[in-house]
Amino acid sequence: MESLVQDTIESRVQSVLAKIRSAAEKAGRSASSVRLVAATKTVPVQKIAEGVQAGLAILGENRVQEALSKIPAFKPGPVQWHFIGQLQRRKVRSVIGVFELIHSVDSRELALEIDRRAGDAGHRQDVLLEVNIGNEPTKAGFCPDDVRQAVSELAQLSHIRIKGLMAIPPPTIDPGSARPYFRKLTELAKMIDAQHLPSVKMDELSMGMSNDYEVAIEEGATLVRVGSAIFGARHV
Ligand SMILES: *Cc1c(COP(=O)(O)O)cnc(C)c1O
Repeated sequence: MESLVQDTIESRVQSVLAKIRSAAEKAGRSASSVRLVAATKTVPVQKIAEGVQAGLAILGENRVQEALSKIPAFKPGPVQWHFIGQLQRRKVRSVIGVFELIHSVDSRELALEIDRRAGDAGHRQDVLLEVNIGNEPTKAGFCPDDVRQAVSELAQLSHIRIKGLMAIPPPTIDPGSARPYFRKLTELAKMIDAQHLPSVKMDELSMGMSNDYEVAIEEGATLVRVGSAIFGARHV
C-alpha cells in the first residue's frame, strides 16, 4: 500500500529541502552550499508563516509594495528577505537595506542607482547581476558577452557589493533542457573570478526554480528560487 503523505506546505518544504540535499550530494557538493529562497509572490502572510514554521529561512519577493506590506508580519524573526523581481529605478530607495540580497540587477543604470541610494543611506547593498543567459530579445539582464566588462566597471562602486550572478533560462518543458544555460552561467562566473578583480568574488549563483532546481544544483547553483513547488500553483 502506498503511504499517504499529507500534501501540506510543511510536507512540501520538507520534500524540497530533502531534494536539495540529495541533488547537492549527487553533485559531490555539501548540502550547506545550497540555500533555498522561497518565492512568495502572491502568497498570503499566513501561508508564508506556515512555510517559515516548517523551516524556510529566506523569502524572495518580486514586487516592492507587496514585500513591504508583508515583511512587518515577520519582525522580529529569523527570516531573511531577498528581492528577486524586476526593480524599477524609482523604487530603489525603498528597498535599500530591507533586502539582504537583490538578485535581479539587470542594467548598469539600476546598479548605479542602487549604489547612489545605498550611499545616501550609509549602507552597502549586496547584489547579483542578472544575466539574460538565453539572449532573449524580450528579457532584461546583461548580455552574456557583456557581463564580464560590466562587473569590472561596477566593482568600482563603493556602496554595492557584487556577490554573483542570477539567471532565468528560456522557458522549457523538460527540466534537462535548462542545463546548458545553468552551465553557461557557472562558466561566466568562473571567467569573472579569473579576472581577480578586487572586491569581486562570485560566491553566489542564483538559478533554478520549481521545475528545474535539482538540475541547477548539479550545475553549481548556490541559491535556488522555488515558489509553486512549495505554495502550489499561482492563480493571479
Ligand atoms: C516566481 C519566481 C520564481 C519561482 O517560480 P516557481 O516556478 O513557482 O518555482 C523564481 N524566480 C523568480 C524571479 C520568480 O519570479
